Amino acid sequence: MRFFKYDAVVIGGGVLGCFAARNLSEYRMKVALLERERDLCAGITKANSAIVYAGYDNKPGSRKAELCASASRDMARLCRELSVPFVRCGSLMAAVGPQGEKTLARKYADGLANGVGPDGFGILSGAEARRLDPALSGRITAALYSETVGTLNPWALGLAAAENAAANGVDFFRGTEVVGIARTEDGYRIQTSGGAVFFAKAIINAAGIYSDKISELVCPAAFCIVPERADFMILDTRAGGFVNHIIFCESETKGKAVSIVPTVDGNILIGASAIAADGDRETLSTSKCGLDEIEKAAKEFLPGIPLDQKIRSFAGLRPNPYEVTQEGSVSDKSIHDFLIGEPAGFPGFVNFIGVKTPGLTCANEIGKYAAELVADRIGCTEKNPVFDPRRSAEPRFTDLDPEVQSRRISVDRLLGRIVCRCKKITEREIRNAIHGEVGATTFDGVKRRSGACMGRCQGGYCTQRILEILAEELEVSIDKIESDRKNAWCVREFEK
Ligand SMILES: Cc1cc2nc3c(=O)[nH]c(=O)nc-3n(C[C@H](O)[C@H](O)[C@H](O)COP(=O)(O)OP(=O)(O)OC[C@H]3O[C@@H](n4cnc5c(N)ncnc54)[C@H](O)[C@@H]3O)c2cc1C
Repeated sequence: MRFFKYDAVVIGGGVLGCFAARNLSEYRMKVALLERERDLCAGITKANSAIVYAGYDNKPGSRKAELCASASRDMARLCRELSVPFVRCGSLMAAVGPQGEKTLARKYADGLANGVGPDGFGILSGAEARRLDPALSGRITAALYSETVGTLNPWALGLAAAENAAANGVDFFRGTEVVGIARTEDGYRIQTSGGAVFFAKAIINAAGIYSDKISELVCPAAFCIVPERADFMILDTRAGGFVNHIIFCESETKGKAVSIVPTVDGNILIGASAIAADGDRETLSTSKCGLDEIEKAAKEFLPGIPLDQKIRSFAGLRPNPYEVTQEGSVSDKSIHDFLIGEPAGFPGFVNFIGVKTPGLTCANEIGKYAAELVADRIGCTEKNPVFDPRRSAEPRFTDLDPEVQSRRISVDRLLGRIVCRCKKITEREIRNAIHGEVGATTFDGVKRRSGACMGRCQGGYCTQRILEILAEELEVSIDKIESDRKNAWCVREFEK
């Protein structure tokens, strides 16, 4: 059995866990992050709407409202610090009738109360909205405009935080599932699936869809996560210029509001449906009814949207939190706020439970809050004197000036070899994605870091070559490479 001793352990390597780790590394303490999957940011963080919200969607006085507006204001600075592309494209929440208009009026008032605007924030007529985004339907009667809404690539943000945390001394243990936690005299003993045991004075539970289960290992169940599947689809970059802003479709009928996002990579992302997952926290298959629902909403608000440019659909899971009654049954009322903090009687154990939208926007704020709480609780408030918040990243090779490209190819021939033809990703970029303490060890990990396979052919041409490079770099045979999840092999050998 292997034993490890840390001041603080973060459970879960999604965007929230990575930011918690990064914020903890600002203090002079020993920190580890434990992730059950082979890669980071492969849970909720990889399948969401990629929107940086302004802060008008949340009830004034709620934790979400308190964190979101300031997180939104800080996002450009944070992304510069971590070298993550971020576009503040603005948004139009569009309505087609009185019900939707009522929602816009309420959100406008909530926004003002939460500190959004008044500059760059206001209700427009349908005609004014169409001047900003001519693809909007003639049926749009009004739109709530917000200039501060933006978009980024969610896993790029999470992985950047992880790289920066690793550079500042955090140890990452991937493929390490937490299966048991016990109190000790001065903290907690954490049992993992591989047999390794971690001792920590404090724990941050950032286990996403399983955060209620992790909490139950320590204290009585107070909340239960009821998963809900969310369908998305992506349109090719050929459709990229179709909208200028993020469009929120505020329908007249009750249902999940659909958003249409012009992504930082030049695609259009449409999502998301809300389909009961019947307690299943693992299955990520899409549903026809969910995809039909989002297509219908997209066509109602943007009649000319080129849905024939669809290159992929995928599903994510919403971690809907519900209260558990004292009798142990699950209440039928969903909780609409972030559940972050220490359960009473469990000092140094910080839960992030049911952190849905706008959790991506607020990841750094939530991490900062938790790190301060932990530092205070375990008496490690001294700052790390060598903490460096900056992470540098190479620009995509294809974005460089042709002269610079030629110069660089002359000293590194791997930059002259294109592996992913759609996105023009070079062999050097694929290999770089695999290097480093938090480098990719799975096929999807390479995709997330390099951007390969994200174009029109979705890996049709480059999958084989990427697998060969991964096998070479990891010094394993090709049939040992997993796509994303444990035991999900890319290549299987069948017996004849
Ligand atoms: C459909 C949808 C759309 C959204 N859109 C937006 C948006 O546009 N803007 C926005 O701001 N927010 C959005 N959100 C919210 C945002 O995506 C989430 O708040 C955020 O990604 C949650 O990250 P996480 O780190 O908590 O979860 P995850 O990314 O799921 O990370 C949790 C990690 O814990 C690991 N884990 C689980 N159990 C264990 C264990 N026992 N041991 C070790 N590790 C474990 C998992 O493998 C996983 O990697 C959206 C959410 C959903 C579902």
